[in-house]
Parts: sequence; C-alpha cells; structure tokens
Amino acid sequence: MNFHILTLFPEMVMGGLSTSITGRAMEKGVISVEAVNIRDYSRDKHHHVDDAPYGGGAGMVMQPGPVVDAYEDLCGKLGKRPRVIYMTPQGRVFNQKIAQELAEEDELVFLCGHYEGIDERALELICTDYLSIGDYVLTGGELPAMVMIDCISRLVPGVLNNEVSAEVESFHDNLLEYPQYTRPEVYRDMAVPQVLLSGHHKNIEEWRRQQSIRRTLERRPDLLEGANLSKKEKKFLEGLLETQELAQNGDESDSDPREM
Ligand code: SAM
Repeated sequence: MNFHILTLFPEMVMGGLSTSITGRAMEKGVISVEAVNIRDYSRDKHHHVDDAPYGGGAGMVMQPGPVVDAYEDLCGKLGKRPRVIYMTPQGRVFNQKIAQELAEEDELVFLCGHYEGIDERALELICTDYLSIGDYVLTGGELPAMVMIDCISRLVPGVLNNEVSAEVESFHDNLLEYPQYTRPEVYRDMAVPQVLLSGHHKNIEEWRRQQSIRRTLERRPDLLEGANLSKKEKKFLEGLLETQELAQNGDESDSDPREM
C-alpha cells in the first residue's frame, strides 16, 4: 500500500508516521509513505500558496494551482490517477468500516488543507472522497491524515506482527474489545479474572465474547444492532438488558417523590 500526502507540512506527517509500528512497516517495505510539499508547486517568487478569500471574510484560502499541479505531477510519476481523499470537517466521519474499504486500494492520496481550507475548484478537479475525523475543527488536515493512515496501515497484511490482532479488536463485528490483563497476577489487591489463568481456551473465548457484549452495551449500545451474535450470546445480552431495566426501575422507585 502506498500513501501519498499532499501537505504544506511534510516534516509533521513524516515525523509522526516514521515512528513505531508504521515506521517499521515502512522500513520493511510493506507500506510506503511519501509527503509531497504543495509549496514546491507555487509559481510565486515568494512561494506563496494562499490568498484572501473572494467576497471577503476571515483568514486565507489555499490557491488551486499548487494543489492541482502537485497532484498532476504525482499522477505523471505513478502513471495513474489514484483516489484523492480531502481531509475536511465537512466530510463523512471516518470509521473502521471505511478504513477496511480503503485498505483494499494500492495507492491513496491524502490532501491536507490549512488556513480556511482549499479553493473549491481544486477540490472539484481532483477529489474523489471527503472524510472527517470528527465534528470539530482542527488547524490542518495533517493530523487527520496521520490518524487515517495509521488506522488503514494496521489492516495491511504484514504491518502487525500478529495478523489476528486486527481481527479481534474493537469495532470488528460491531463489538468493543474485552478487557485485557498482563503480569502481575495481582496488582493493588486486584486479581486477574480466574478464567484467564485456567488455560481452558473455550472458556476463555466465551468469557471474552461475553465481556465484549457487556462492554459494548455499557459504552456503545448503538453498535449492538449490527453485531453478529449467536443464539447463546443473544440470550446473554437479553439477561444483561433485563438486569439493566431492573436496576433502572429500582433507581426510580428509590427516588424521593418530593423531587418529582
Ligand atoms: N473553513 C473550514 C470549514 O469550516 O469547513 C475549516 C478549515 S480548517 C481550519 C483547516 C483544514 O483543517 C481543513 O481544510 C481540513 O483539511 C483540516 N481539518 C480541520 N478539521 C478537520 C476534521 N475534523 N477532519 C478532517 N480534516 C479537518
């Protein structure tokens, strides 16, 4: 998988992604990450890439020329026109499912805006996708691009040492991951759940699935609708829901009637 990042701050994205697991994947050649400096495509003698918005208003807007030229030059080198994802708070919110879909591509281009964003004409000419990392506004698209590349990379075969670990993590199968424990066996009087020390793989597997279901119900109940549960697991969930309902009813009857 080859990632190309069109940015005004190449050192920021390369510094972050060259570290730890993504850095090792780059060294192994399983992924490649290349940052293209949009400023190198400025035709201005002062290397300006932004200007005031037409119609007035705050801030500066990145001009279309350097952005489109940077992309066209990249296409010339690659001999193809890869998908271009614009990092924008106006896009679809990125999630694990989108990451899985993008991990199927051979080449991806991430376009990072700065200031007030990028001239709309450049976006119309080259962008195929508009993605956001959440409903908040950042100063630039570099952190969102790093977030998405990190997440997609983990799904590329060979990036993680343990191939199964991406498969049993949170959001796989619409469930959050079960709690994890390591040494010591007892920490501040808190013991690791006994089943994990039993060596009984079937029981461990069953306990983990149940913990995943319990945790998803507590923290992200919205996910459960799409979860693929066995008959036995559905029953377990129903039990949890009943207990939850009983506890809620108990809370209501305990409340002081004068407060109502
Ligand atoms: N004026 C723009 C708007 O209101 O939609 C926001 C511009 S923002 C200050 C500058 C750049 O940061 C954007 O062009 C985009 O690339 C990036 N950015 C900011 N928030 C983002 C988010 N939540 N997800 C993805 N990219 C974001």
